Amino acid sequence: MTERRVRVRFAPSPTGALHIGGVRTALYNYLFARQHGGDLIFRIEDTDSNRFVPGAEEYILESFKWLGIPFDEGVSFGGNHGPYRQSERREIYKKYVQVLLDAGKAYIAFDTPEELEAKRAEIANFQYDASTRMQMRNSLTLSKEEVDALIAGGKQYVVRFKIEPDENVHVNDLIRGEVVINSSILDDKVLYKSADELPTYHLANIVDDHLMEVSHVIRGEEWLPSAPLHVLLYRAFGWEDTMPAFAHLPLLLKPEGNGKLSKRDGDRLGFPVFPLEWHDPKTGDVSSGYRESGYLPEAVINFLALLGWNPGNDQELMSMDELVKLFNLEHCSKAGAKFDYKKGTWFNHEYIMQKPDGELACLFRPVLEANGVDAGQYDDAFLAKVVSLVKGRVNFVKELWDQARFFFVAPVTYAEKDVKKRWSEDTPRIMAELMEVLRGIDDFSSKPSEDIVIGWITEKGYHMGNVMNAFRLSVVGECKGPHMFDITELLGKEETLVRMQRAIEALK
Ligand code: GLU
Repeated sequence: MTERRVRVRFAPSPTGALHIGGVRTALYNYLFARQHGGDLIFRIEDTDSNRFVPGAEEYILESFKWLGIPFDEGVSFGGNHGPYRQSERREIYKKYVQVLLDAGKAYIAFDTPEELEAKRAEIANFQYDASTRMQMRNSLTLSKEEVDALIAGGKQYVVRFKIEPDENVHVNDLIRGEVVINSSILDDKVLYKSADELPTYHLANIVDDHLMEVSHVIRGEEWLPSAPLHVLLYRAFGWEDTMPAFAHLPLLLKPEGNGKLSKRDGDRLGFPVFPLEWHDPKTGDVSSGYRESGYLPEAVINFLALLGWNPGNDQELMSMDELVKLFNLEHCSKAGAKFDYKKGTWFNHEYIMQKPDGELACLFRPVLEANGVDAGQYDDAFLAKVVSLVKGRVNFVKELWDQARFFFVAPVTYAEKDVKKRWSEDTPRIMAELMEVLRGIDDFSSKPSEDIVIGWITEKGYHMGNVMNAFRLSVVGECKGPHMFDITELLGKEETLVRMQRAIEALK
C-alpha cells in the first residue's frame, strides 16, 4: 500500500473570536502538514446558523495572516475539494443522509420538542437510543405510508443515526492510545434537520473529512467524546479504510492549573485569550488581543507550541522552521497544559532581543507618534541605535518609550530624589567646567569622549560618581538609562550642551 498523503484541516465554527486554544490547534496542524510535505485545509463549519457571528470568519483569517500560518487550501485559498464553507455544501450532505437512510443505518424522527420533553419526564435519564426508539414517533415505528404522508404534509423532522447497542467502539488516538467505549452509552444522534435543510456538525464533519481526503484529525480534547460516534459513522458509510487517524490535544488550563482556561481568566489576570482584539458585534464588548497588546507573532507561536508539546529536551526558543523540524505528536502530552502567561511575556522579550534593530525601529515609529513625537524627523539609523541601547530593558515594543523618551523630549523637570543626592552647591560650577571640556571634543562618539571626560575628572580629582550622575541628571532628567556616552553620542554635542545649560539654570 502506498503511503497516504498527509492532509489535515483546521475547521472552526464562526461563532466569535478565535480562542487561543484554537490557534494552538491550527498551529499543530500546520507544523504537522509542513513536516510531512502535506496540505493544510481551512474549512468553515457553519451549519449551526443560530450561532453564526458576522465577521468571525474574516477575524480568523486575519489572525492567521498575522501569525504567519498559511493554508494550502480552503475558504479564501481555493483548491480542488471545495466549496470549503459547509453552508455551501447542503446538497452534498443531503445525498449522504439519503445513503444512510437507504442502508437502514439512519431513520427519520418526527418527535416534537414537547413530546421529547414528556418522555424525559416519564423516563429517568431518558436517552433516544435502542432502548427507547421503538416508543417514539419515527420511521421505525410508523408505516412507510404514514411517513410519506407526514413529510408531504410539511411536517418537520430530523434524521437520527441508528446506533447498534452493546458494541465496543475502539478509537485509536495518536496521543492517548486506544480508547474503548460501549456503544450503548451513545444516543441516536441527530444528523440532519429538515427545518433548515442542514446537517449537524457530526455528519458534515465526517462527510467533509472523507471527501477532502483528510488523513489526520488533530483537534482539541473537547472533541474526544465525539470520536466513537465518528468512528461508527465512518463504518456506516463503509469508509473504515480511509478513516483519518485521530489526535486529541490536551486542554489549555487556567494558570493555576485548576480547570479549563476561559476568557474570564484573561480578564482577571490581565492577559489576552484572543490573537487579535475582538469587537463583539452583538454586545459591543471589546476583548484584548495579543497583537494589540504588543506581542510579536513569532513569540506567540513559540509560546503556544510549548503548551502541550515539548521537543524532548529543554530547548525553549524555536523559530517556525525549527518547530516544523522538531514537532511530533509523540511528544504531545495527555495531561492539560497550564497557561503560564508570564512565560509569554518572557518569550516576547527574547524575540525583541533577537529582532534586528532596524525592524524594531520600524515598530517603534508608531509608538513615538502615539506619544506625540514627529517620528518622521528621525532616520532609521538613529532609531535603530536608540532601540539597541534600551531594548534589553523591555518586554514589549511600547515599553521602549519609557526607556527612551529622553532621546526625543529634553527634560524640563528633574527627579527629586536624584537632585537631592547628586546636585550640591558646587555642581553648577563643575557642570560648567564639564561643558567647556565637551565643547573642546572633536570626535563626539562614545569611546573618545568617554576617555577625555574620565581623564579630566581624574586629573581634577573630582568624585567620579558625583560628576557622572550630575551629568546624567542634567541630560536625562534622572539617574538612569544606558551608558552615558552612548547617549551623548546620539544626542550630539549641541543638544547635550543645551540640556546641561538648562539644568544649571533650573537647579540653581
Ligand atoms: N467545528 C469544530 C470546531 O469548532 C471542529 C472540530 C473538529 O476539528 O472536528 O472546533
